[in-house]
Amino acid sequence: MVGFTTRILHSDRQDAIEHGSLHKPVHGSVAYGYADARDLAGVFQGTHKGYSYGRQVNPTVAALEKQINDMERGFETVCFSTGMAAIGTLLFALLRRGDHFVSSSFLFGNTNSLFNSFTAHGLEVSFVDATRAEHVAAAIRDDTKLVFVETIANPRTQVADLEGIANVCQQHNLIYVVDNTMTTPFLYQPIDSDADIVIHSLTKYIGGHGNVLGGAITDTGRYDWQSFGNIYDTYQKGDPRKWGITQIRKKGLRDFGGTLDAEAANRIALGAETLALRIEKQCENAQRLCDYLIAHPRCKTVYYPGLAHHPEFERTKRLFKHPGAIFSFELHDGIDPFEFMNAMQIVIKSSNLGDTRTLAIPVAHTIYFEMGPERRASMGIDDSLIRISTGIEDVDDLLEDFERAFQATT
Ligand SMILES: *Cc1c(COP(=O)(O)O)cnc(C)c1O
Repeated sequence: MVGFTTRILHSDRQDAIEHGSLHKPVHGSVAYGYADARDLAGVFQGTHKGYSYGRQVNPTVAALEKQINDMERGFETVCFSTGMAAIGTLLFALLRRGDHFVSSSFLFGNTNSLFNSFTAHGLEVSFVDATRAEHVAAAIRDDTKLVFVETIANPRTQVADLEGIANVCQQHNLIYVVDNTMTTPFLYQPIDSDADIVIHSLTKYIGGHGNVLGGAITDTGRYDWQSFGNIYDTYQKGDPRKWGITQIRKKGLRDFGGTLDAEAANRIALGAETLALRIEKQCENAQRLCDYLIAHPRCKTVYYPGLAHHPEFERTKRLFKHPGAIFSFELHDGIDPFEFMNAMQIVIKSSNLGDTRTLAIPVAHTIYFEMGPERRASMGIDDSLIRISTGIEDVDDLLEDFERAFQATT
């Protein structure tokens, strides 16, 4: 098999592209016409290959779905307007009132908020420390259907016990969902730890330039949907491997409508071509900055799974190609994190991550503000914590920018 980047670059060319166009064009049309009305009927009944209505399928989006699917070595992928739309649609399409699921408590803030909202609609969730599979196992009940974890949690960089949790899910026949946004399929493919569903916010590293939102659900083809009680009769037809993803596309994407726009899909697909090049550099920059910070007398702590003192350092080395491009750190008492960040001239103060530019954010005062001081404390988020998402700048310029910030706050 060819390498990761070669595969992504040529995935859209495996089907004929209109006019020999080198890149998959943006298809703006919402609907498609057929010369024979029987073909139109066949498209709706799944017996004729073709496009029906833009809310559930579009040629440009389909090319991106194939690209993401190839990256994750998946069975089938469905794209969404945002990462949150992917996560929300997954639960909406697969779970029903009274179902229980287990989630990591170290979670992207809005995912945490979303899961809490679902409890008002009849789902039950247990949040556990997913760095150890025992905690997940202890939370499982008779009505548990699914387990949701992230690979590297933001901002404290806890790494889930991805292999141990896979065993627990297999023992109890639970759907194992891994949000792979932080690691990307270049650093890690959750199918290698027996994940059933992979989630992506394409907004982050895969799009990669901070100029487009998107999300994806990939079914890795491992889960036995015949053993799952929540597949509607309509979708219990044909190849059972398709049942889950078909229900997600129909009940989820088609009916709920969190559709990715063709223009956005085109931009994400273009960004994805350079994923490997960018993330290699971003990880290298993160490691260099963390090595510098951990040795700095005015830095209190650094959280990065590429540092030997990180609790999941060994797991990270075993599972991921590199330890990622996100880290966070605390300054020594008395240093104002706002002043520190304001002294930086290259690092941008911003909430996004996975951009080509290095971004910094004071976590407790922004993305984790709404959850309040108690939940923040339980997640180990100190008021002085600063999160960094490294970009592809020349590393010496970043090191100089951090040094400038230390000097400005002496
Ligand atoms: C950003 C993010 C999301 C949500 O994605 P959006 O595209 O912003 O909706 C979900 N999970 C993780 C881990 C993220 O970083």
